[in-house]
Amino acid sequence: MQSLKIYNTLTREKEVFQPLHPTHVGLYVCGPTVYNYVHLGNVRTFLTFDVLVRYLRHIGYQVRYVRNLTDVGHLTGDSDEGEDKIGRMARLEKLEPMEIVHRYTDDFHQVLSKFNFLPPSIEPTATGHIVEQIEAVKALIEKGLAYESNGSVYFDIEKYNQNGQDYGKLSGRILEDLLSETRDLDGVGEKRNPLDFALWKKAAPDHLMRWPSPWGLGFPGWHLECTCMSTKYLGTQFDIHGGGMDLKFPHHECEIAQGTGLNGVSPVKYWMHSNMLTVNGQKMSKSLGNSFLPNELFAGSHHLLEQPYSPMTTRFFMLQSQYRSTLDFSNEALKAAQKGYKRLLNGLRLLREMEYVADESVSIDPKQVEEIEKAIAGAYDGMNDDLNTAVTIANLFTLLKKINQLYMGQSQFAQLGAEVFEKLKATYLTFFLDILGLKEERNEAFEPLVNGLLDLYRDFKTQKQYDKVDQIRSVFKQNGLVIKDLKQRIDWAYEE
Ligand SMILES: [Zn+2]
Repeated sequence: MQSLKIYNTLTREKEVFQPLHPTHVGLYVCGPTVYNYVHLGNVRTFLTFDVLVRYLRHIGYQVRYVRNLTDVGHLTGDSDEGEDKIGRMARLEKLEPMEIVHRYTDDFHQVLSKFNFLPPSIEPTATGHIVEQIEAVKALIEKGLAYESNGSVYFDIEKYNQNGQDYGKLSGRILEDLLSETRDLDGVGEKRNPLDFALWKKAAPDHLMRWPSPWGLGFPGWHLECTCMSTKYLGTQFDIHGGGMDLKFPHHECEIAQGTGLNGVSPVKYWMHSNMLTVNGQKMSKSLGNSFLPNELFAGSHHLLEQPYSPMTTRFFMLQSQYRSTLDFSNEALKAAQKGYKRLLNGLRLLREMEYVADESVSIDPKQVEEIEKAIAGAYDGMNDDLNTAVTIANLFTLLKKINQLYMGQSQFAQLGAEVFEKLKATYLTFFLDILGLKEERNEAFEPLVNGLLDLYRDFKTQKQYDKVDQIRSVFKQNGLVIKDLKQRIDWAYEE
């Protein structure tokens, strides 16, 4: 098995990945709050963990991948203040909260399937686990780590730390600093300490989503669902917890406190966080007008875009950076990614129709064999180095060069030998399709047209009507394609 290293936010080090059970991996990823269309920053986060799941399975692990849907409890202030995000949308649109949840859950699933994401093994919802959350609150009160106050229940940070724990250890925050920057608007006077966070909130009479509890009508705090659902499906301790960088604090910090408080063990072995997207160097945000929805990208309808970009171009674009680095979105970068993806895709097409040609008069060329072996190892080294897909892709391009040489007859199959050729083919296909999760995007209306033009090109050429030959060439060029005469067999490829 390959030795995978991942960067653990908790220890701030790259560590060799060793799951709690030798063959199985438990992975929990914080899913979206389904009150709005999923934006591109979220897509990047889910892409990181899609590739992680794909790679873990490729190297032989059985993965249980749990990704939740938050459908209650996430407040507009992202902590204990404000209105429920879903309740707010329901009020504004005069719909039932569950209509909001269904609308945006459907959108989320549709968008993710366009990007070729694997579905999680379990996709639990917060409203589906109210009973578990009430039980967890009761247990934390019994352990003296939570207290009721005016119908709400709060986690007691001071008690937790007195028990030898360290609230803030994940995000590297120091309690005193946190205290000085805390602005506690809602729940003033209810909390013993401004840092305490809500496990259960009392519902105001006009609050749409509420459930009976030992503390009266209310709803669970945002952080609690992830603790309850990860424990239920993955156990009190599991291997990997992932999410966007913005969830490190307070959300994941609170998950550690809740899980440790409930079960006496730190819940997660490896914490992984995916970095943010920027647009032309600026933070992506709705107020700056530079926040993209995936559908705007596919349609090219955003004012910052010159043209549409397909889901696979976008996927490829994001994979060109390692998930922990920031990724800057721009027209130029997307255009370059479109070219790169098409070149790589062309390699896949060529490989699929390529058969090994034996030739006993040709001997094996150790230099070429070494180049290929090195690139194959390099593709794995990239993935093993904390999912550095940028390095993996660079090595696939080295393999692509060899594929093109074979296709053009600049290099002979027998110089590689059958075994090395088959290894090259299998590696390229596996990385492209299974690990990076790219797929062939064929515009079906487009293919017959291109092939028809090629037939005309051939005829005009035979008839020596060179002005028409040039016309067809220029149509191709305008569409980023080139015509190749490959030993009289006329073919086309994406321009490089
Ligand atoms: Zn979560």
